Amino acid sequence: MESGVVYAGVIIDQAHPSLDRVFHYIIPTELKGKVQIGIRVQVPFGVSNRMVEGYVVRLDTAADVPNDKIKAIDRVLDDYPVIPQSMIPLISWMKEEYHCLSIEAIRCMTPPGLRANIKKKTQRLVYLNDQGDVVEERINYIARKSSYMADVLRLLVQQDGIPLEEVRAVTGAPLSSIKNLEKRGWIRIEQQEVYRNPWNYEPDIGVQPKVLTAEQRLAIETLEAALTRGYGKFMLQGVTGSGKTEVYIQAAQKAVSLNKQVIVLVPEISLTPQTVERFKSHFGERVAILHSGLSLGERYDEWRRIRSQKVDVVVGARSAVFAPLERLGLIIVDEAHEDSYKSDMQPRYHAVGVAHKRCELEGAVLLLGSATPSLTDYYLAEKGTYKMIKMKYRVDHRPLPPVEIVDMRKEIELGNRSILSGSLYRALADVLQKGEQAILLLNRRGYAQFVSCRSCGFVVKCHNCDISLTYHAYDKTLKCHYCGANYPYPRVCPACGSKYIKHFGIGTQRAEEEIKKLFPQARVIRMDMDTTSTKGAHQRILRAFGEGRYDILLGTQMIAKGLDFPRVTLVGVIAADTSLHLPDYRSSEKTFQLITQVAGRAGRGPRGGRVIIQTYQPQHYAIQFAARHDYVGFYSREIEIRRQFLYPPFSHIIRILMMGEKEDDLIRLAVDTRDWLKQKVEGSPVLKQGLIDIGAYSAPLERINNRYRWQVLVRIRPDDIYKQAYHRLMDECLERLMGVKETTIVDFYPVSL
Ligand code: ADP
Ligand code: ZN
Ligand code: ZN
Repeated sequence: MESGVVYAGVIIDQAHPSLDRVFHYIIPTELKGKVQIGIRVQVPFGVSNRMVEGYVVRLDTAADVPNDKIKAIDRVLDDYPVIPQSMIPLISWMKEEYHCLSIEAIRCMTPPGLRANIKKKTQRLVYLNDQGDVVEERINYIARKSSYMADVLRLLVQQDGIPLEEVRAVTGAPLSSIKNLEKRGWIRIEQQEVYRNPWNYEPDIGVQPKVLTAEQRLAIETLEAALTRGYGKFMLQGVTGSGKTEVYIQAAQKAVSLNKQVIVLVPEISLTPQTVERFKSHFGERVAILHSGLSLGERYDEWRRIRSQKVDVVVGARSAVFAPLERLGLIIVDEAHEDSYKSDMQPRYHAVGVAHKRCELEGAVLLLGSATPSLTDYYLAEKGTYKMIKMKYRVDHRPLPPVEIVDMRKEIELGNRSILSGSLYRALADVLQKGEQAILLLNRRGYAQFVSCRSCGFVVKCHNCDISLTYHAYDKTLKCHYCGANYPYPRVCPACGSKYIKHFGIGTQRAEEEIKKLFPQARVIRMDMDTTSTKGAHQRILRAFGEGRYDILLGTQMIAKGLDFPRVTLVGVIAADTSLHLPDYRSSEKTFQLITQVAGRAGRGPRGGRVIIQTYQPQHYAIQFAARHDYVGFYSREIEIRRQFLYPPFSHIIRILMMGEKEDDLIRLAVDTRDWLKQKVEGSPVLKQGLIDIGAYSAPLERINNRYRWQVLVRIRPDDIYKQAYHRLMDECLERLMGVKETTIVDFYPVSL
């Protein structure tokens, strides 16, 4: 430790805004050297001096508390800093960026098992103290006295370091015999930590090294150069099946060979078992897997394995971005466009945002991968924030599957009221007859929320906002969730006069029944919220389908991403439209991504494949571009709409969400907050310049658990100077809202509104 340091700056483990600052403590002489940055300590706190836990974030030569008032650290709680020093700046950054408390940021970086003081699991292992001839002599000698003791030694000659229980079970030796051997100094018994193994997949030994495609080679060379330099931000846009995972693995391998460590983020572990498996089979024991399905103890063990530098690669969902690695060299974000990277709980961080910051702080390379990058990311790539790496071709020059768009309005005209069009019906029959496999996607996003005409496909939208109206069952009206306007439920279609206008909706279960009725011989497996509620259910379903025990996999968006099943020759999208009409400026983007991703599941094997999309809006550009696998075409079109209506990336939206039991009070609070904000903005030139609009509206899910939800949306110009100013305004706003009984959440980076 530096000389002169006698004070430690501590953040105490109490989630309260008024305690959210660094407190100074004296480091007692006996703890000097032990109190390091990032270590957990116990300190006296408050007037009563009760003991609380805290984290040392600074070491100082002076304190901001007078000497007669300052207290001393009571004790140090761990043998090593639980937060690597390199991650300490991330705490205050998160506090500002995500409007959270420092301790909430720290809790992202440390496992709950640490605070719960979960017992480390240990076991006693038996080892020989000597090897070779000496042991043979001892065996011969002791065999005459105790065959048990001889057996124990013989066993250990075969395999050293066996759990005590196992030694006893195999040899039948009583504990006294083993203790006797220990007393003679021939063996030793060591208490050792064991790690609970959360991952029960057998490594896939059969993977053969691949000959890289030209595009893969180029991608890896580019990344290698950046890894050697130690920085760089990249976007890998590769069509589905272009072999992005192989690029990730080779880039990770390169980082490891440079003695650096790697974080690999995947949208959701259970939905991407194949990606995880490939990392596991490549890096073996040097991989840690973090995901929400782990028990507290398992998660704690994995975390300790990472913290003690026993792993090179950490694979996990969004929270893995906080993995406590000290030699971070690379962060890979697979399917970087996915919303699951945004935390929907406090702190409301975005894993990609945190990844950016970590890479900057720790000198690491960032790699975002996707076939369908988010519009904002692609825009940033064009502006130079990311260096773009493109992979335009599938591995082995397999073609992208041809896509047929089926106009469901025609099916109605033909009198077909089944969920399957004639085309999709015939294609399924063909697949079944040939013994191939099919994936059917039922797009349940935006289910039963929007109102559309079955005859002409017209969708009712807000006149002010160009956003689909949302149907409200309880008063049978239509509402705009952006401007709050109310509309009556139309009796006939405003466009064509048809009376077949109503809200949309069909469930997966009904779809399954109908398909089974149409194809009684087909083996159908369903994957949705209902069938995947138990632990490991995702894996079981995907594995069963992968092994060919089912012909048709029917599911929601869960089945759209990352899967690689070479025997799938047909992908059908039962209703492509539903997500087009979410009351969200991103609905076209979401639909394009979903269709492109699911279409990418077809034709991954030598038999090729095809895609059939059923829709009531065959002309919609999101569907048209997805059918042509044309990301850039879609982007060019959509970005103009965003520009015109000032949606992101041409604006930045901040949301203040409020929840409470009394609707009147809640509305009053929302309106009051809006007016307060408006007044503040009036009083500041920079806020005023940055503002596009402010409004108070009911939230898309207006009532959850009998609690009403309202929101104030603030739309600002996206420049950093305005963001900074509005960050400060939001801090002030939060402080003002601290006393109210309603729950309020400020989300600076909401992914959906
Ligand atoms: P993406 O993630 O881009 O959709 P994947 O990484 O899943 O694509 O790769 C698609 C398939 O191609 C996988 O089965 C993978 O094992 C295989 N693959 C990847 N690279 C190669 C290669 N160079 N040679 C042969 N097969 C490859
Ligand atoms: Zn109509
Ligand atoms: Zn509107």
